[in-house]
This record gives sequence, C-alpha cells and structure tokens, in this order.
Amino acid sequence: MTSSPSASSLSRSVTCFGVGEGWPSGDRRHASFLYRCGRTALLLDCGDGMSSAFKAAGIAYEEVDAVLISHMHSDHVGGFSMFVQSLWLQQRRRPLPVYAAPRAITALKAWLEAVVLPPELLGFEIVWRPLRGGDHLRLGEIEVTVSPTSHLESLRQSFEARYPATAFEAFSFVIEGSGFRVAHTADIGDVRDLQPLLKKRPDLLICELSHVELEALCAALKASPPARVAFVHVAREHLESPAGVEARLHTLLDPVPFSLPKDGEVITF
Ligand SMILES: [Zn+2]
Repeated sequence: MTSSPSASSLSRSVTCFGVGEGWPSGDRRHASFLYRCGRTALLLDCGDGMSSAFKAAGIAYEEVDAVLISHMHSDHVGGFSMFVQSLWLQQRRRPLPVYAAPRAITALKAWLEAVVLPPELLGFEIVWRPLRGGDHLRLGEIEVTVSPTSHLESLRQSFEARYPATAFEAFSFVIEGSGFRVAHTADIGDVRDLQPLLKKRPDLLICELSHVELEALCAALKASPPARVAFVHVAREHLESPAGVEARLHTLLDPVPFSLPKDGEVITF
C-alpha cells in the first residue's frame, strides 16, 4: 500500500501556540510553536502564555522531544519556567533536551533555580545543548539547520561590553525531514537574514512581520518564493486594519500564497 502525500502531511504540522509580537496583546499569546513530524515533536520558543495553550491543546507532557529557544527576549522565552513547572507537576519522566545559546543556558539554569525548580526536584532531566549558528541537529524524524540572525545586533553593540553574561544571539531555523522543508524566521533584523532560509525553496515559511518593512520583506520573498507563507509575530500597527494588511500583502506578494494564522491554529505541511 502506498501512502498518499495528504496522508503523510496529516502527521506533519505546526501548532501556533502564540502568534503575538513583542508588545502585550489582549488576544494573542507570545511566540511558541509545536512542530510535529510523525512521532517527533519539537517545541520552538516558549513565549508568555504557552503553557496555557499547550494544556488547551491536550498534548501529553511526555510528547515533547526537544525545546529550541531562538533568543532571549521575553516574548520568546517568558513562558519557559512555567512550562518546566508544568512538566514537573504533570510528572514527566523522559529527559528533555533544551537547545539555546550558551549564555542563555547559563541564564535559564539560574532562572529555574531562582523560581524553585532545581534539577533534583523535577523528576526528569533537562539536557542542556548549546546552540550555535551553522549547527545541524538531528531530532528524531526532524533535521534542523540553525542560522544566526541580526535581530539583537544593535543591542549587542550597545550593551554587550557592560553585560557580558547576556546572550545576544538570535537564530532562525530550517526544519526538514522526509519530503518536506519548513523555514521559521523567529525574529530577524534585516531581510538579508532570510537568505539562508530561502536558498532551497521551503514548502512553508513561518515568517515574522515586525522588524522589517513590508515592502522589502515581500520583495525578498518574491525574489525567492517559498511555496507558501504564514505571517506571525505581526506588528500591532499592521493589525489596526487586518483587512488592510491582507490587501497590501496580496498586492505585494501575489501569486505567493499566504495566511495570517491565529493562536491555536494548526498548519499542516
Ligand atoms: Zn519577538
């Protein structure tokens, strides 16, 4: 029996726990996405509110195979300790690999201790894995390529000398497996950050829409079009008129298909 592409794509999805940006929002949680491919489940970022979305989705706490942290802004990592607390209370037992920049690991370990979640309490091991640009990770049925982005570069230049323990790295990811390729920008600083993601055409691009001009972003996407785009982390000024931003995207991006998913939406690929 041959499995149809639609049957296999049913087991490949990304659940958008939070599509919000860095500003507080009454109706959007902050950045967190669960990628699933067959039996592999990968959590990308843990923005504020993700534990509630995770619970609402009814996902087993043993199911997550690894966590990736794109960078240390709170809209991407502010829910991390609450998620670890959830795993402790729900009695997870499997070790959990957590990938983050080396200085982010030091900070997250200290934060878990500070919020009274020492390793001896948890009942499962957090396996800390340093993340660096250019890394290729094999996580079950998923392969991840890590690209550095310029998102925190100006802050690095202003503050790194005074705050050498702060992790100023930020990463984008290409997530691949048998028959699919998805690119995930997390937060970028310049359209040039997109180049490594678009080099080989992704079937889906999860693309932030806060830190680069709409026109420049769409021009870059039209020059190397992904099969489709889901815009997340959309800046609040764009959403003052959701119909308006959709119309502008059509003008700038057609015929590249795109969507503006909401919290909780599941996208198959
Ligand atoms: Zn962000």
